[in-house]
Amino acid sequence: MHTNLPLSQDDRLGDMLNKNKKWAKMIQTEQPEFFATSAKGQCPKILWIGCSDSRVPAEQVVQCAPGDLFVHRNIANVCLHTDLNFLSVLQYSVDILKVEHIIVCGHYGCGGVNASIENKFHGLIDSWLCNIKDVYRANRENLEFVKDFEARKELLVELNVSNSVYNICHSPIVQAAWERRQQLSVHGWCYALEDGLIRELGLVVSKQDQIEAVYNMAVTNKTVSTKTSETK
Ligand SMILES: [Zn+2]
Repeated sequence: MHTNLPLSQDDRLGDMLNKNKKWAKMIQTEQPEFFATSAKGQCPKILWIGCSDSRVPAEQVVQCAPGDLFVHRNIANVCLHTDLNFLSVLQYSVDILKVEHIIVCGHYGCGGVNASIENKFHGLIDSWLCNIKDVYRANRENLEFVKDFEARKELLVELNVSNSVYNICHSPIVQAAWERRQQLSVHGWCYALEDGLIRELGLVVSKQDQIEAVYNMAVTNKTVSTKTSETK
């Protein structure tokens, strides 16, 4: 099944593969059961949603081991009701893995957030960035009250995290989990590139009465009818 692929001519890739061999050997020495256990399955209790930015590697900044985090990353940690990729990650992690925490971790100095307010043409990615422009428009008054442009961009980073947190909470996936009394909290965090520290945004949503009533889908009946059909 495995073939001996030639090492890349690019030294950086060869270096990565060599480091992988050293890492695997080190783990096998220090934790002989690690890979056997890992191969049996995963049961992470945390879903991490972050930016694709190379400077914010999920496991590294919170010192988690393989198996600890289920991870979804995209440009500027945007969570949309129409993104099949994100929704699949959300449904699998909530319904199957039964994660207890979902962390949306944005970061100050986010290129995606900054690009969204530059009024420049970037091509296809502008369609994605429009979602952050929507966050700006919805919070224009608060944002433009902040005169310092750098501070305004930082506030937009936080508001974008907040928007993703609430989009997650508004989803039928999360609401159904809360209806069946599954323990699930959604958190908003922000990482600072300058010092490597994460700021909690004081945003933790754990139940339906913390969201706007209009988003409440009254999923109880749906949950009951699903259970009824399963027990037939
Ligand atoms: Zn970013």
